[in-house]
Amino acid sequence: MIPPAFDYHAPVSVGEAISLLSSLGDDAKILAGGHSLLPMMKLRFAQPGTLIDINRIPELRGITEEGGKIRIGAMTTESELIDSQLLQDRLPLLPEAAQLIADPQVRNRGTIGGDIAHGDPGNDHPAIAMALDAEFVLQGPKGERTVKAVDFFHGTYMTALAEDEILTAILIAPFAAGTGSAYQKLKRKTGDWATAGAAVVLRMSGGKVTHASIGLTNVAPTALRAREAEAALIGKVLDDATLDAAVKAVRTVCDPAEDLRGDAEYKTAMAGEMTKRAIRAAAARCK
Ligand SMILES: Cc1cc2nc3c(=O)[nH]c(=O)nc-3n(C[C@H](O)[C@H](O)[C@H](O)COP(=O)(O)OP(=O)(O)OC[C@H]3O[C@@H](n4cnc5c(N)ncnc54)[C@H](O)[C@@H]3O)c2cc1C
Repeated sequence: MIPPAFDYHAPVSVGEAISLLSSLGDDAKILAGGHSLLPMMKLRFAQPGTLIDINRIPELRGITEEGGKIRIGAMTTESELIDSQLLQDRLPLLPEAAQLIADPQVRNRGTIGGDIAHGDPGNDHPAIAMALDAEFVLQGPKGERTVKAVDFFHGTYMTALAEDEILTAILIAPFAAGTGSAYQKLKRKTGDWATAGAAVVLRMSGGKVTHASIGLTNVAPTALRAREAEAALIGKVLDDATLDAAVKAVRTVCDPAEDLRGDAEYKTAMAGEMTKRAIRAAAARCK
């Protein structure tokens, strides 16, 4: 299927891209990897008159450590996340989870910024970003602002991004020593979106949990941060009773839509199961 005709711009700086966005208004769309936008255009769910291709803007690429944070340019691809030694050493949850996204072709073009900006609760990065306490850098004609991942997603395909803003970078504090993490994703087949997914970041001391953060994928209109489940873990030994309490709390916040991947009851149960598995895996990595 061929998308409707559109005009095309390929700016080489963020400033130029923002000027184009401001002058063209809501008829224009940013083109990153194109792996969500182009399928939507082909299906006529999106019909932008102009695409602003940000692939030629060098400042949107790269993974660096600066000012105590890891800075990931929005145009960093899934494959670049997977290959990054800095992330493998300092934030291993991201390269591990990126390997579970789609297939190699999509991972070679699809970007972390596009995955987040799209606002799809089925995408994996939103929940992972929540579990990592990530912040998103948004740039528009009035300058730059930073929005926490937990405050960014307003609804399915709705985010805090204004029409004239670009997501330029993702900021995340590297893991403190002894942090364990895991992402568990139930999918029907390789390359599929999650039926349910859970990202967990844990720290433990003396056999008890001292820090827990949990993000949930595709079990509500947006990705979720499961605060009550986190609270059920803090100060506790990870025995069956503690895990059951966390699972129960996760199930309480789930509000999934029924679709080909399952009904609401099944997805809710799977969110609990993915969380339990991710907690166990993360705990085994707390060293
Ligand atoms: C077969 C298939 C399987 C997939 N499976 C998964 C999966 O399992 N998990 C998963 O997470 N994703 C999956 N995806 C989606 C894929 O990861 C997309 O690449 C991703 O959702 C969008 O990233 P992109 O760079 O391709 O963005 P694009 O498609 O170019 O853009 C998506 C949207 O975000 C906007 N946008 C993009 N970048 C910016 C920016 N920097 N600032 C502001 N707005 C921006 C665009 O205007 C557009 O509205 C799959 C895709 C396909 C085709």
